[in-house]
Amino acid sequence: MVVQSKYQIQSDLVKSLRGVIANISNEIVAHPEKYEDLVKNGSSLLGILEANKRWARNVQRVNPEFFNKQNAGQQPTMLWIGCSDSRVPPTHITQTKPGDFFVHRNIGNAVHSLDMNANAVMQYSIDALKVKHVIVCGHYKCGAVKAGMGKNTGLPIIEQWIANIRNLDDQIHETLDKLDHELAFDLMCELNAITNARNACLTQVVQNAWKRGQPLTVHGWCYRLSTGIIEDLKFEVSNPIKAESAYQSAIQDAIQRAVNKS
Ligand SMILES: [Zn+2]
Repeated sequence: MVVQSKYQIQSDLVKSLRGVIANISNEIVAHPEKYEDLVKNGSSLLGILEANKRWARNVQRVNPEFFNKQNAGQQPTMLWIGCSDSRVPPTHITQTKPGDFFVHRNIGNAVHSLDMNANAVMQYSIDALKVKHVIVCGHYKCGAVKAGMGKNTGLPIIEQWIANIRNLDDQIHETLDKLDHELAFDLMCELNAITNARNACLTQVVQNAWKRGQPLTVHGWCYRLSTGIIEDLKFEVSNPIKAESAYQSAIQDAIQRAVNKS
C-alpha cells in the first residue's frame, strides 16, 4: 500500500483546484456573453477590469492579428453622432468592432453650429480620416427630448443645451397636441434626430467637404430601446442642394407616420 505524504496530498489538491479554475476561466473566455451578469453583479471597477482582460484574451485567441492592426492606426468609414444615454452604445447595438466608427456623443445627439467639440470631431473625421458617412442616431425615450417637451428643468446649462428641442416642440405643438403622449414623444425623438442630421449638413466642415467633391453622406436614424431596432428616418443627403428638401420631406414623413398610428 502506497501512503501519500501530507505534502503530496496538498500538492495534488492544488493541481486539481488549478485544473478547475483553468476550466472555469476557459469557459468564461470562450463564452463571455453568458457571464455578463456575473460581471455586472460584481458591478465593481475590479469586475470591469477583469472583464476587459477576458475580452482581450478572447480576441487575441480568436484573431491574433487584431491588436497589431489596431495599434497600427485607424481608418473608420463612419462618424457616429449619438446620445450619451448609457443604453445606446453604438458599436454594441450595431455589432461593429473597434475601429469601425469615429464617435461623438452628447446629451440628445445634438449638432450645434457653435459646439467646438462636435465641430472638431467632424473636422478630424471628415477632413483627416475621410469618413464616408455621418450617422446622426437619436433614440426613442430620449431624456433630452423629454426634458425639451416638459417644464423648465431648473438646470440652466441643460436648458441652454436643449433650447433647440424646445423650439421644435413649439413649432409643431398643434400636431403634437393631437397625438397621445407616447406617439408625440416618439415623433419628437425622430424630429430631433432629423433636425440634428440637417444641422450636420449645414456645418462648414460638411459644406466644405461637398465643395471639394468629397464623397460624404449624412443619415438620420433613431434607435428603439424597446426592440433594439434602428429606424431609418429616410434622411440621407449627399450634396448641399438636397439638404433642405430632404429635411422637409423627412419631417413630413415622420409626422405622417405618427398621425397614421394615432
Ligand atoms: Zn438620449
